[in-house]
Amino acid sequence: MNISKDCVVQLHYSLFDEQDNLIESTKSGDALAYLHGHNNMIPGFEKALEGKAAGEHVSITLPPEQAYGARRADAIQRVPVKHLSGAKVWKKGMTAVVHTEQGPRQVTVEKVGRFMVDVDTNHPLAGKTIRFEVDIQDIRAATAEELAHGHAHGVGGHQH
Ligand code: ZN
Repeated sequence: MNISKDCVVQLHYSLFDEQDNLIESTKSGDALAYLHGHNNMIPGFEKALEGKAAGEHVSITLPPEQAYGARRADAIQRVPVKHLSGAKVWKKGMTAVVHTEQGPRQVTVEKVGRFMVDVDTNHPLAGKTIRFEVDIQDIRAATAEELAHGHAHGVGGHQH
């Protein structure tokens, strides 16, 4: 079976930035499971895996426009310090979570005032070329329930 729409793909991946720093990896835990063809992963990632088989290793390099987008200069926002969660004392460069109307959002602290903090709402990987090293473990047809939910269930997928 090769990866195509409506497959559940189980894989291990390591994600690196342009300087070859490891950003994250599934290697120390469960493999990730996702439903292919339903925009659960970034588009360039799913496109590169299309047609691949279990056991294959795939190296995927994605420019910003196929990954987390360009950095936006207007993405700095001033928010009350009490709206940040994740730490008690804030310093430039720390990552925080801000609860917005669109849900929780990861931001980077730019400038700390007494009551207000300037945060950069760009994704931490915005403007960066990133590389995934992927090992495909298993491919199976999605169940009717998974298709109805639009995501994979079980180990590495949604647990509910
Ligand atoms: Zn579900």
